[in-house]
Amino acid sequence: MGCNGAEFLRGREFMGDAPDVLIVGGGVIGCALAYDLAASGLDVTVLEQERVGAGVSYGAGGMLAPQIEFAQGGPGLEWGMRSLTLYQEWDEAIRQRIGFGLDLDLSGIVRVTNTPNAWGPSDPFIRRHTQMGYVVKRLDASTIREWAPQIHPAITSGIWVVGGQVDAYRATRMMAQAAVSHNALIRSGVMVTGIEDGCVMTTAGRLCAQMVIVATGAWLPHLVDVPLKPVKGQRLLVALPQLLARVPIFGDNIYVVPKASGQYFLGATTEPEAGYDQNPTLEALMDLGTAAVGLFPELRHASVIEPWAGLRPVLPGELPLIARVPRYERVLAVGGHYRHGFLLAPITARIVRDWMVSNAPLPPDFSYQRFETA
Ligand SMILES: Cc1cc2nc3c(=O)[nH]c(=O)nc-3n(C[C@H](O)[C@H](O)[C@H](O)COP(=O)(O)OP(=O)(O)OC[C@H]3O[C@@H](n4cnc5c(N)ncnc54)[C@H](O)[C@@H]3O)c2cc1C
Repeated sequence: MGCNGAEFLRGREFMGDAPDVLIVGGGVIGCALAYDLAASGLDVTVLEQERVGAGVSYGAGGMLAPQIEFAQGGPGLEWGMRSLTLYQEWDEAIRQRIGFGLDLDLSGIVRVTNTPNAWGPSDPFIRRHTQMGYVVKRLDASTIREWAPQIHPAITSGIWVVGGQVDAYRATRMMAQAAVSHNALIRSGVMVTGIEDGCVMTTAGRLCAQMVIVATGAWLPHLVDVPLKPVKGQRLLVALPQLLARVPIFGDNIYVVPKASGQYFLGATTEPEAGYDQNPTLEALMDLGTAAVGLFPELRHASVIEPWAGLRPVLPGELPLIARVPRYERVLAVGGHYRHGFLLAPITARIVRDWMVSNAPLPPDFSYQRFETA
């Protein structure tokens, strides 16, 4: 199996000026890694081909909704819950460090449906989550409107679950800034073109480190052998002066996320056949707009701020990879967070930190072996 992460660091005195860790990719995953590793005293450099947050982390909803995203339970839900707890720690630590936090709002998530009298006493979602010890509150027509004053009058069934949101782009940049405050170096405009064991070939020359971490999101297969695919997602950002909702609202075919800026995020499409195409399309945006107006009729008066499309990185099983790349001792692949990159960013970074600093094993939930047995 070779050495674990912490053992590599013992060789650091032989590496001259080379950093302990080279992170390829400055999305939320690369920036979370940079923050947690740099805060632990490691010498970290991030190589980003464009600028921090230029990939799919730019336009995501920033929702932290483990019970909705992993409704069936399983390891995703458990890791998601642990990540939520870490978010509170990070928000506070980053605010103390650089004067700005992650704008974390953990007021919860509301799921509503057009089906009357849904979520009765024997509802499988409520039973399952309650048995696992997670909070689910049933909402009636009046309590739904405490969270979403302008929701369509026909909506009378809903639930409230634990969770919340960050502003995706801003949180990514704050993690990067917090990493820099711990002496991390972020090199924008440096593209990695190839990988060797412990080294990368880049548009700025060959660079080496004790450990290379490849966190290039949907572009992971361009550098390492992984069964990862891009899944295009489109969203529409709009503005409206009225308060429609206080927390993210999931409907049957749309979600609406109220942002601190007074804007509303309407999302999102799931287009696995679109490959690496990142162009928003009129058809998808019209569908999103129609579904959103169906949930919040006032949205028909909203001004369009920004249509956008990005590429979610997905692996078989829809859980990320946090594992050493086969054939290499000093290359770790961290990616494939699909719809959960913001939710899972802190716990992902903490797993890698514990591996590198404290010799903790990498969890089998995120291993390469999953694909061999699939
Ligand atoms: C519409 C939409 C809504 C979403 N909403 C949510 C949500 O509410 N909650 C949630 O948790 N997740 C959400 N997601 C998913 C989330 O956006 C992703 O899981 C997460 O952003 C992935 O982060 P990443 O750092 O792996 O990838 P990216 O943000 O894409 O970062 C990868 C970076 O690597 C760089 N790069 C690539 N190749 C190279 C190279 N060769 N050399 C140097 N740099 C390179 C890229 O420029 C990029 O900046 C959403 C996604 C979409 C599309």
